[in-house]
Amino acid sequence: MWPRVFGAPRVCTNAGRRRGQLAPDLGDPIHMSVRSDRQRAYLRALGIPLWRRQGPPGRSAPEFDTPAVPPTRQDTPALSADSAVCAAPVIAGSDWAELEAAVTDCRACALCEGRTRTVFGVGSREADWMIIGEAPGAEEDRQGKPFVGRAGQLLDKMLLALGLRRDQVFVANLLKCRPPGNRDPKPEEVLACQAYLARQIALVRPRILLSVGRVSAQHLLATDTPVGRLRGKVHRHPDSALPVVVTYHPAYLLRKPVEKRKAWDDLQLARDTLKNLNP
Ligand code: SF4
Repeated sequence: MWPRVFGAPRVCTNAGRRRGQLAPDLGDPIHMSVRSDRQRAYLRALGIPLWRRQGPPGRSAPEFDTPAVPPTRQDTPALSADSAVCAAPVIAGSDWAELEAAVTDCRACALCEGRTRTVFGVGSREADWMIIGEAPGAEEDRQGKPFVGRAGQLLDKMLLALGLRRDQVFVANLLKCRPPGNRDPKPEEVLACQAYLARQIALVRPRILLSVGRVSAQHLLATDTPVGRLRGKVHRHPDSALPVVVTYHPAYLLRKPVEKRKAWDDLQLARDTLKNLNP
């Protein structure tokens, strides 16, 4: 049993319930789309209340938000493996070993000076899901892996609630080196590093991108729109045309557990989107 992160699940009320969506059943709270006892246990451990769905079972196929969020961010061009302005070495066409070696040796931006390790990314290289965060933090920099520590544990629990283990998805960040003091990445750093993520997407060939956190979402979708307005819909990644679902960063959810309900909605949206894609 996973430890409870934020104490006992909250009692569900009708407050804020939207018509046609999940309705509370206080007598026997359970979410009908969560199929196994194990998934229910993970959701309880996350502090997410379980609900009974009213009306016809199943979520209708989500509509893509097309056109995708218009690219308004001029200082951070969309990801492209062959971008002419990218300062990173040309890695278009590289295989995994070449790509990993290029990242390890990379000195294309100033972040190379302060890093302990590059953080390449982990998980299945044939995954349907690709989880994209922002940049390594202190612990990631020490271990060389993305999403470790408490935020990483919460991400793992969120994935487990969907029936996914960390090794069944591919997890990477926009940046492969830690910005000092965990500050936001600078546009020129994202620009320098973007070819690596673009190549990772091309090699994994995921079917859906889950963008976690504001920085990841705004750079991936080339927009300044706040994450609260990007979540809850399906976008198209400008370069790969893959569906993108945006959700909150686990570190934010640790600070603001009340938002975990929305994060769970986002994960279900991503799962249903994937389910409804053509094979
Ligand atoms: S952040 Fe990216 S571009 Fe900058 S040094 Fe690290 S790997 Fe290279």
